[in-house]
Amino acid sequence: MAAMKWWGWGLEGVEFTHEDKPDLAPFIKKVLGLDVGLPVTPPTRFQDLHIPEPNLPDGLRAALEQAVTAAFVSVDPLDRVVHARGKSLRDLIRQRRGDLPRVPDVVVSPGSEDEVTAVLRAALDSDAVVIPFGGGSSISGSLEPPAAETRPVVSVDLVRLDKLLAIDRHSRLARVQAGVFGPDLERQLAAQGYTLGHFPDSFPHSTLGGWIATRSSGMQSDRYGDVADLVRGLRVVTPSGTLITRPIPASSTGPSVREMLLGSEGRLGIITEATVHVRKLPERRTILGYLFPTWSDGLAAMRDIAASEASVSVTRISDAHETQFSFATRKHPTLLDRLQSTALQAFLKRRLNYDLDQMCLSFIGYEGSPGHVGQQRRAVGRIVKRHRGLCIGSGPGALYDQKKFDTPYIRDFLLDRGALGDVSETAMPWSRLTPVYDAVIAAGSGALAALGVQGYLMCHLSHSYHAGACLYFTFAFSPTPGGDMIAEYDVVKSAIQQAFVDNGATLSHHHAVGTEHAQWLEQDISAPGVVMLKALFEGTDPGKQLNPGKIV
Ligand SMILES: Cc1cc2nc3c(=O)[nH]c(=O)nc-3n(C[C@H](O)[C@H](O)[C@H](O)COP(=O)(O)OP(=O)(O)OC[C@H]3O[C@@H](n4cnc5c(N)ncnc54)[C@H](O)[C@@H]3O)c2cc1C
Repeated sequence: MAAMKWWGWGLEGVEFTHEDKPDLAPFIKKVLGLDVGLPVTPPTRFQDLHIPEPNLPDGLRAALEQAVTAAFVSVDPLDRVVHARGKSLRDLIRQRRGDLPRVPDVVVSPGSEDEVTAVLRAALDSDAVVIPFGGGSSISGSLEPPAAETRPVVSVDLVRLDKLLAIDRHSRLARVQAGVFGPDLERQLAAQGYTLGHFPDSFPHSTLGGWIATRSSGMQSDRYGDVADLVRGLRVVTPSGTLITRPIPASSTGPSVREMLLGSEGRLGIITEATVHVRKLPERRTILGYLFPTWSDGLAAMRDIAASEASVSVTRISDAHETQFSFATRKHPTLLDRLQSTALQAFLKRRLNYDLDQMCLSFIGYEGSPGHVGQQRRAVGRIVKRHRGLCIGSGPGALYDQKKFDTPYIRDFLLDRGALGDVSETAMPWSRLTPVYDAVIAAGSGALAALGVQGYLMCHLSHSYHAGACLYFTFAFSPTPGGDMIAEYDVVKSAIQQAFVDNGATLSHHHAVGTEHAQWLEQDISAPGVVMLKALFEGTDPGKQLNPGKIV
């Protein structure tokens, strides 16, 4: 797997474009006041970066080379810069400017659990800091070394641990090495007729170990569960040896060590292997598009689907703002598309009494045998009808499914043009959904108004549960010309995060804590919760050598 661009999302040469989406440039002009046709500002050239010399004592270097051989110990400047940060908006802005952090001194790639153990031992013995690295897609500042770190920093890249080791078909459990990337894992499982069913938007560039260490969630979590539900057993190399949790379905052996490792962001050790739920590849898979007259009708429908006997794989509804954005990103429509769209709009307005500005687009996914899919579609159809929704077929769903892994490139597209776009996501009980949504829209809009900048705020619901759901907010704005972009970003991001915790929601549903969200942790889990976490980290890692400064 090739490493991502050092300055942005995804692979060199792949980028988001407005040119095949005729409605997008006018939409961006309207909502952000931004002319996307103007010349772009490229990132700093790599050769112009000031990369400090590595602080790698000879003894540590020799021990690392002994652990993994010299071929897998790198002080190459590009390797070090790629491993210095993740892909949060703050990371992208600073990398593009050439504003480098405390860059890791060395990147090491172990090829087995024994090698991971030897690397960790070498680092601990040399008073070095260790930062596990999966795909580098962290959006929460989970990878950056502390700015004032004077000890050597070793980035441990798990990329070579990429094998599906075994499948217990009887129990539907698979043993998998932690460094495997999403597509490679699904390829190996599919060859044996199975799937993990975990598809985060970062899927092409994130790993099993990273998902576990951040408590990740994929778009089909309604059916498969979040990674916390999918992971049963773990093997983790810690300062006091290899920690093993057995792959059992449930256990009553005190507080769950497995749960402590989920979301631990490299602070408790290096995950080398996991035993995960797998399921047979579904015979049929389809995502249908639906329209609802308003956000509240759509939310009520999602809640009723979650409360019903229907078991769908995806529930997603965009608010009216995100719906308009989605329509603006349609690729060149054919004449037939345009005619159908005009006829549909007339039908919605005249026959169903929709106000098209309030209309919300939804996707519901179905998987399983043809019989099961048919039954689910009918059950959902009845709920949708009760809430004045309309099924618009599989075309929009198929399109969404195809473009979901391209969307992450849009932040670089905006940064090229001097604008900012980012996300904040949360979860709350069904009863708090509307109050949280209203509070966040008010807080985000208030922050944009206070800055005096033109911006756009939109939201979708995804990941429905028995008791609640995730709300995922996206915001974009054109910062003040000549102003401090990061300071303005902080104003908007903080207003949204604060509205989450002030209104009974969590500071993050699936993006983890890192450094980006750490300031709100106590408000989320209470002061004694933070005391407990600190004790866990300090007890496991008394020298503060495992990814220090993250989470608390
Ligand atoms: C554009 C974009 C879209 C995203 N979409 C989603 C989404 O849909 N769902 C979602 O859940 N997240 C999403 N994320 C966030 C990110 O992809 C997840 O947090 C992901 O789980 C990180 O995996 P990774 O392999 O890239 O880990 P990294 O970014 O490399 O590391 C993340 C953290 O995990 C630790 N870590 C990594 N591997 C190990 C290991 N083997 N052992 C111990 N610690 C380890 C690291 O030290 C770090 O603290 C998105 C991010 C971006 C930028």
